Amino acid sequence: MLDINKIRADFPILKRQVHGKPLIYFDNGATSQTPQIVIDTIVDYYTNYNANIHRGVHTLSQEATDKYEEARIKIQQHFNAKHAYEIILTAGTTESVNIVSSGFSSLLKEGDEIIVSALEHHSNIVPWQMMCEKTGAVLRVIPMDEDGSLRLDLFDELLNNKTKLVFCNHVSNALGTINPIEAIIHRAHKFGAYVLIDGAQACPHIKADVQELDVDFYVASAHKMCGPTGVGFLYGKKELLEMLPPYQGGGEMIDTVTFEKTTYAGLPHKFEAGTPNICGGIAFGAAIDYMNAIGFKNIQDRENELLRYATEKLLNIDGLKIYGTTHKTSVISFNIENIHPYDIGSILDKLGIAVRTGHHCAQPIMDFYNIPGTVRASLSFYNTKEEIDFLIESIQKAKMMLS
Ligand SMILES: *Cc1c(COP(=O)(O)O)cnc(C)c1O
Repeated sequence: MLDINKIRADFPILKRQVHGKPLIYFDNGATSQTPQIVIDTIVDYYTNYNANIHRGVHTLSQEATDKYEEARIKIQQHFNAKHAYEIILTAGTTESVNIVSSGFSSLLKEGDEIIVSALEHHSNIVPWQMMCEKTGAVLRVIPMDEDGSLRLDLFDELLNNKTKLVFCNHVSNALGTINPIEAIIHRAHKFGAYVLIDGAQACPHIKADVQELDVDFYVASAHKMCGPTGVGFLYGKKELLEMLPPYQGGGEMIDTVTFEKTTYAGLPHKFEAGTPNICGGIAFGAAIDYMNAIGFKNIQDRENELLRYATEKLLNIDGLKIYGTTHKTSVISFNIENIHPYDIGSILDKLGIAVRTGHHCAQPIMDFYNIPGTVRASLSFYNTKEEIDFLIESIQKAKMMLS
């Protein structure tokens, strides 16, 4: 059992007020809040050992390099990669996906096929469309079902020997659906296709084991799992990262440079051109430690309980419909009758409640349901039943005002 008061005390922002009301933060799917220990790590870096890494012989540079490489090892261990150099530190999920998609642009040819799921975030649709335009490869989509799950039966019909890459999120950010990535990886591999899984929305809830999954690429962002913004990682199997060309040219990613020819550095530096987000990487490591100290089993148990509680209460509200009702994380996307989600979100904000409204960077899902968007409450282990009670009360109030 978690000591919720102790956990809430770890997050200084939870003490603030919004419009004179205590903040209730239900937008964890967009970004999670930051515990004091991660904030302290950031302050410690700039206070005590801010320096550029991998270059200097001086003490500060060596300290910063050691801490940065320690963070890489924390990420490696958390996601159980075989080698630390299979973890590329990036600016986040979006950049990680682009490293892979732009790399494949030079490997694919006309007529090759790639498959994405209907549940994707825009950051996962656009890079593949750009890649297809460049290469003449064809983009295919695994359709979704009314309950927010993927049609795996139809996935089988899309797979064939021309399939080169399959791309799917582990958890949908718009609906919270936990996708059957084990089955997707297994079936894609039978046709020799590589699989890239977007773990951005899964990483705060599920500890993925990349070796057990046998996944080829796995990506996520620190800021959805109690870390800072602007940092994340790309995991890739060694031989695949070696196969992909570098993403950007610059300092740090080279071995030797002359005007005739440059040779590239080995992994992971080949994909880490320029000065990285050093402080962010180190703070990402601290966030992983923080979440593991709480424990993912405890986090899941608590979030499942909050999800059950909130779902039951929400469904008691007349005219409220929840989108995505299958096996999922603590994300609740809903609408009330024909009230625009934005109007509900604005009233909730006045009452101190932060929810997300709109298409959640997943317009194709909204088109599937034929709606402009939803109100999304995404719960975290630091939320409480009292906060949910206040949300329900406030939604009732908003509904009265708007209908
Ligand atoms: C947040 C999110 C992204 C984008 O992450 P960035 O940190 O903005 O790059 C991609 N996919 C999913 C499923 C997400 O939830």
